[in-house]
Formats: sequence, structure tokens, C-alpha cells
Amino acid sequence: MTKVALAFDLGGTELRAALVNDAGDLLSFSAVPTRATDGPAAVIDQIEQLATAILTKAPDLSPIGIGIGAPGPLDPEAGVVIAAPTLAGWNEVPLADILSTRFQLPVRLENDANAAALGEWRYGAGRGVRSMVFVTVSTGIGGGVIADGRILHGRRGLAAEIGHMTITGEGERCFCGAIGCFEAVASGTALGRRATACTKCADGSLLRELSAGADITGRHVVEAGRKGDARAIELLNEEALWLGIGFTNLLHLYSPDILVIGGGISHGFDLLSEAIVATVRDRAMPAYRDVPIVPAKLGPHAGLIGAASLILGE
Ligand SMILES: [Zn+2]
Repeated sequence: MTKVALAFDLGGTELRAALVNDAGDLLSFSAVPTRATDGPAAVIDQIEQLATAILTKAPDLSPIGIGIGAPGPLDPEAGVVIAAPTLAGWNEVPLADILSTRFQLPVRLENDANAAALGEWRYGAGRGVRSMVFVTVSTGIGGGVIADGRILHGRRGLAAEIGHMTITGEGERCFCGAIGCFEAVASGTALGRRATACTKCADGSLLRELSAGADITGRHVVEAGRKGDARAIELLNEEALWLGIGFTNLLHLYSPDILVIGGGISHGFDLLSEAIVATVRDRAMPAYRDVPIVPAKLGPHAGLIGAASLILGE
């Protein structure tokens, strides 16, 4: 019989839930805006309501457990959210225990970036490999590392904080307070900021036209690049250089069989990949240069599918 898990992806803006089978298919899906500023009790109520809605839609399916991806830092073994920066009041919340008491099911908790890495590894672009690095590039940069067939947690579950490795000594200050973080120079936000800085409101450029005069986002740059806009292509090449530098570090550190890119920027993967690969060829030691760098396959559902796999993979 098909095994099914109830999965949650708890984000600062959206709470998503689904029933997922052991082939990684979403059987029932629902999402609500997270009541992120209302404290843990309000969000846990939302989780309960969403669970009820999902289970009512699929009355024939009974999940064998609950998997949750939530913002870190968190303790996956104890099932405790330690201090979620995007959720007000979430300090030392024993989420797994609370939900397991309410639903009478086993509950597993994982950092959201690690959950997405697990999803891509078990059901997406990293299927079948022993070691994989997953990098998600959107407003920030996050990721997860699968090393020798298991997720790498490190001390207090804090391993693979990919966005905050230092890759340069200059540039804009990162929200973490440091200078030169991978995220501060290579996120979609950084790409948008560079595009905004090199154009002016109503200057007739395609970038400003696409952003309707407002600040330009990474997505606008990709869109303009796709239309052949020279300035956008230049910006994308610079973006690819920074990504290539970060990826070179990750290849040297973790020696994955494959490096998978997800997040909003992966929509522009075809425009970036050649320059990323060129940078890696240029900078990585010879033994690391042939590692495939590929786009993620599961899109926005990687976290949910990975959360389900915490239960289904056992
Ligand atoms: Zn940082």
C-alpha cells in the first residue's frame, strides 16, 4: 500500500501543507499566509486547521507521520525551533512534541533549507547520488549538504550556512552584519540592487521598463536578459561569476557528485550556467571541474516533499 505523510513547509510569509506519497507526489495541497507576527500559538492553530482541511479533502488517506520544514536555527533531534528570525516569539518552541500530542502521530522537524535539499536528493535533481550540495538562490542564499548518503547537520544543526560564507572582502553589508557574504553579493536581491544602481528611473532602459520605474529585482534582470538586453546580460555574467566563486568553494569543501541550484534565480539558469561553469573551470582544482551543476527539479515544492521524506524515508 502507498505510504503517505503529512508535510508542512513553515515559512515567514506562507505556511504550506500537503499529503505526499512515497513516490514524492503531492496528493492534496493547501497554503495560507503565515500569521508570523502573532506568536507560536496562532501559527500552531493554523497548522492544525490546515491539517484538518488537507485530511478532509482526502478522506481515504491516513498519514503515517508528520514532517515539517521550519526556519532555523532548530534542533532536528529534539524537534525544537530554537529562534526563527522570521517568526515573532518563536524561541525554544518544542514544535514536534506539541504536534505529536495533538495529532497522535510521529513528527519530524528539519531546517527548511535542509528539507528542500532532502526533497531534491530523494525525488528531484539529485536522485541516486551519494553526495550533493543544494543551493537556493532567491532573496537570500541558503542550502543543504548531503554527505555520504545523509544530511549534514553539524554542531546544533547549524552546518551548511552557505549564504554566509565569506567570498570577498568588500561590498554591501550582509543582514548578518558581516561584509562579503555569498548572500550579500550573489543573491537575487544583490543582483536586483546592482541593476537598480546602474540604471535611473525612466531612463528608457528595458530593466526600468520591466520594473515600471520601481526598484529592479533579480527576476526583471533575468527577463531582460532573455530578451537579449545587453546591460542585463552583463549583470547576469557578473552574477554568474559570484555564483561560480561560491560554488567553487562548495565543490572544494564537500566534493559532491552534483551541485543543484534552486530558488528564484534558477528560472534564469540557462542564462547563467555557461558563465558559472567557466568560473568553476577557471578556479576549481582539476579534480572538481567536471561536477555537474544543474537546476533543481521540484520548484517551490522541494521543501514540502523533503519534509514528507523525513517520515517516508525511514
Ligand atoms: Zn551574512
